[in-house]
Amino acid sequence: MAKPRILITGAAGFLGSHLCDRFIREGYHVIGMDNLITGEMKNIQHLFPLPEFEFHHHDVSKYVHVAGELQYILHFASPASPIDYLKIPIQTLKVGSLGTHNLLGLARSKNSRILVASTSEVYGDPTVHPQTEEYYGNVNPVGPRGVYDEAKRFQEAMTMAYHTYHNVDTRIIRIFNTYGPRMRLNDGRVLPAFIGQALRGEDLTVFGDGNQTRSFCFVDDLVEGIYRLLMSDYHLPVNIGNPDEITILDFAKEIIQLTGTKQKIIFKPLPKDDPMQRQPDITKARKLLQWEPKISRSEGLRITYDYFKTLSQEELYQRDHKNFDNYSR
Ligand code: UDP
Repeated sequence: MAKPRILITGAAGFLGSHLCDRFIREGYHVIGMDNLITGEMKNIQHLFPLPEFEFHHHDVSKYVHVAGELQYILHFASPASPIDYLKIPIQTLKVGSLGTHNLLGLARSKNSRILVASTSEVYGDPTVHPQTEEYYGNVNPVGPRGVYDEAKRFQEAMTMAYHTYHNVDTRIIRIFNTYGPRMRLNDGRVLPAFIGQALRGEDLTVFGDGNQTRSFCFVDDLVEGIYRLLMSDYHLPVNIGNPDEITILDFAKEIIQLTGTKQKIIFKPLPKDDPMQRQPDITKARKLLQWEPKISRSEGLRITYDYFKTLSQEELYQRDHKNFDNYSR
């Protein structure tokens, strides 16, 4: 019997590449798509020899064509770190809006089930804690994060419209902070920032007073949640994340302990609209998907640190290898 076919957008990115691995292991034919604006070929290089993997270098904000049958679509293409979407705000808005529209159109024409990657950023700087799926959020549309938050909010609205109006079989996942191997060391997010600083022998930069909180989920747990949601029959948004909440200052201390660095913590100004607290309420995922995270932060951080230690000196000191300026807007 022919393998089921799945399109994964953002395939060369951190989450996309782990999803390619998982669906190949599950016996799918995987069509990976990426414009490589923030994704990296090295994340999927190991898949190229496999007959059940194909790669399309394409920007999903432009018309998306896939030949043949297509049973599933996972839309994971998007810049996803605050510094990325500050550098490429218009691309970020386009992939969440035009890209999502193109993929929903593709799902409709191919009769595919589609899961779109939304985010805890739809809750903005939340006034409800922990965040349940019913909370509408507190987003500044014209702030620096607005380009990502509003694109993702539009994505959810468009996905629901295709579900109710065109009967497309849709799923929406709201992803909270996730970490693991294949994160870009220089993507500006707190974990690669701290580990990179430790490996280079620099001080760790905590923004603000460090009392803001995040809840970090290891990538394997997240991928399991995505898989279960795709296979469920639930079409409203579901939070997937690890509820184990920690302040950024304590997180910096954990990284110091993990890496054994002799450097100290220094404080820098808090970026505008940086959410003060974030913790997923995963009651829905527990009930609907029988899912909850299994990997503790200490175990996940150890695996991730081991990955970052394998990077070359060149990669360690490369501040920004992505030439966003040359990219068409
Ligand atoms: N942060 C920090 N130092 C850094 C990078 C980030 O203190 O070098 C803080 C940032 O201000 C935020 C938290 O760590 O409060 C998580 O930031 P990240 O960019 O990883 O993702 P976010 O959850 O804000 O989207």
